[in-house]
Amino acid sequence: MKGQSRRKGSAKHNKPQRNEESLQPKHSIKHKKKTHQPQNHAHLSSASSNPPKPSSSSSFLDKMKARLAGGHFRMMNEKLYTCTGKEALEYFKEDPDLFNMYHTGYQEQMSHWPEQPVNRIIKWLKDRSSSIIVADFGCGDARLAKNVKNKVFSFDLVSNNPSVIACDMSNVPLESSSVDVAVFCLSLMGTNYASYLQEAYRVLKPSGWLLIAEVKSRFDPNNGGADPNQFTKAVCEMGFTSEVKDFANKMFVLLYFKKKEKQSSKSREIEWPELKPCIYKRR
Ligand code: SAH
Repeated sequence: MKGQSRRKGSAKHNKPQRNEESLQPKHSIKHKKKTHQPQNHAHLSSASSNPPKPSSSSSFLDKMKARLAGGHFRMMNEKLYTCTGKEALEYFKEDPDLFNMYHTGYQEQMSHWPEQPVNRIIKWLKDRSSSIIVADFGCGDARLAKNVKNKVFSFDLVSNNPSVIACDMSNVPLESSSVDVAVFCLSLMGTNYASYLQEAYRVLKPSGWLLIAEVKSRFDPNNGGADPNQFTKAVCEMGFTSEVKDFANKMFVLLYFKKKEKQSSKSREIEWPELKPCIYKRR
């Protein structure tokens, strides 16, 4: 797969595209009704200058902080979609606090989704034996591991929790053919996403499952997204069969694959479609 190239006519780097992931709550600042204020404030003591009540000034500050945090989140989000996993690892190594900021913004966005894809994956696992071993690629706050009884190896760029292994998921510290399920829940972010899927293929046992949940617009060819059939074909060429294609949810798609028992002997160049970034609009 080639590096990230921008679509014709797409927004510039510093000007996020508008699309339907824009569920950022409105942080608009409501102007208070004008009160009759003297024009010359200089002679007034603070007590007589009718200052905003503490509650209203702190809510103003909260709104400004939320705006700033929203801006930081969108910047980091775009960065993660337009760089390689290796670059992303370096980025957060330099300042791990950025990762917390990113995740606060991410959770804020997700709180507006009617359904969280990770809950669909949790349900899928709960419907099966808890003895199956799971690798969660790009686990975020490790919600998956926290909600199932299975042994889950959780990987992300930063570890804020002893159960999370910090690494670039194109190279995870697991033996080949060692897990039953590999999960990518909204985490195919890097321009080298194919190398994450290759790594999942390596660590999966034969007949193991690859569960992918991704933002729907990234697979909407009418809006610059990838052709889901081309993506599925590429995953199958790696040595999987396509088992589930669920486009019913408004916000995300579920694409589930099973690793073939035997690896195909043909080694051919796989044509991976470019997956456009999911960029959140500023409101
Ligand atoms: N799967 C979680 C979090 C999704 S956010 C959930 O559904 O809630 C996507 C996560 O993928 C982020 O935490 C991001 O840091 C991680 N990620 C992106 N690229 C990565 C890489 N190359 N290696 C490891 N983690 C990565």
